[in-house]
Amino acid sequence: MNMYDIIKKKRDGLELSKEEIDFFVGGYTNNEIPDYQVASLLMAIYFNKMNKRETLDLTKAMINSGDRVDLSIIEDIKVDKHSTGGVGDKTTIALAPMVAACGVPFVKMSGRGLGHTGGTLDKLESIESFKVELSEEEFLSIAKNNGLAICSQSANITPADKKLYALRDVTATVENISLIASSIMSKKLAISPDAILLDVKVGKGAFMKDIDSALLLAREMVDIGNGFGRETIAVLTNMDEPIGFAVGNALEVKEAVNTLKGNGPVDFHNLCIELGTRLLILAKKTSSISEGKKMLEEVINNGKAYEKFLEMVKVQQGDIKHIENLDLLPKSEFTIKVKSSKDGFVKSIDAEKVGQLALLLGAGREVKESSIDLAVGIELKKKIDDKVSSGDVLAIVHSNDINKGKIVEEELKRTIEIGGKNNTPKKLIYGEVTKDEKRLY
Ligand code: URA
Repeated sequence: MNMYDIIKKKRDGLELSKEEIDFFVGGYTNNEIPDYQVASLLMAIYFNKMNKRETLDLTKAMINSGDRVDLSIIEDIKVDKHSTGGVGDKTTIALAPMVAACGVPFVKMSGRGLGHTGGTLDKLESIESFKVELSEEEFLSIAKNNGLAICSQSANITPADKKLYALRDVTATVENISLIASSIMSKKLAISPDAILLDVKVGKGAFMKDIDSALLLAREMVDIGNGFGRETIAVLTNMDEPIGFAVGNALEVKEAVNTLKGNGPVDFHNLCIELGTRLLILAKKTSSISEGKKMLEEVINNGKAYEKFLEMVKVQQGDIKHIENLDLLPKSEFTIKVKSSKDGFVKSIDAEKVGQLALLLGAGREVKESSIDLAVGIELKKKIDDKVSSGDVLAIVHSNDINKGKIVEEELKRTIEIGGKNNTPKKLIYGEVTKDEKRLY
């Protein structure tokens, strides 16, 4: 077998065998096949696609390229959740303790964020001395004893995906459903949770800009998860405007903690309840959406969800004083109010643009090696459909650089569009994909 023949076969639109997929994934991981040959193959896959069998075999090959984590010492049904990436997406930080407080072990190994804002790990690092780098033994022991652990991926989980994703990033081959689905699912399945919930974001701030392409990605990932015998469902959620009000690491932690205490933004609270309910169903804690919602509202109202979060922070060596007093979280030097010059209603807030502006302030990474400013970001004061009068504050820019802060202030005036009332109410969820069904709402 050789790489030339594999490239030629895919270039000609033919199906690759399991052996050919194992050959190129293994050879690339071990540095036996050069970047230029794999780049050609990726471009051939981009144009000629992979079928379901090839996608499943690619996922298997990427899982087999590295270590796996065995969660079997935790007896209950263990759940994991993955979001395809949103602006202001602090969902895991609030959702994980809510679900764990309902008695469902939530175990997650996360990646760092690239672009837009930081990932969950970066956000958690806003909490003084919070430890995200756990050894596998520490991770398993915390997950078993506390039913909740969030840590970084150990170096040797799916090394093939790390190399392939980096190559796709510079060869314009990221946007292929099979490549995205196998990349995401290999990382999830290497940790072996019993059930997986996928939050597939749709809209201006998401990878998938429309419902049809989001449905295709959801179906591919759900089929891979179920193909591995892990119950997997996907929920398609709205990503036209940022989630909640806060975009930026410490700002988002603050908002997630307030949500755990029952004082969060309505859209973010509702998103956590909707996703949390599905996790409770996957974990067989309930079979009914309405009962799941009740259970989650209860752990918010009786303080158990917040207590669970404090416990996680303590166990992962974070300073809980910074949670008990959120004013101790990192703060920027400057805050600039963005004011409306018109009366009307908020018609749109381009989430992608808000993410890019937060990145400009330093809240995210332009390249993998960039450092993150945990204090900076954008705090919206209005959301789509809110009524606005001239002079009202639309957003607050948190910046450590006054000039960048002013640029972002001006840009936000254009990004938050004021006009007449929208005719159609905004939706939080567009639909769901399960093993056997697709439902659109
Ligand atoms: N996220 C991933 O982990 N992989 C992709 O290919 C795209 C998004």
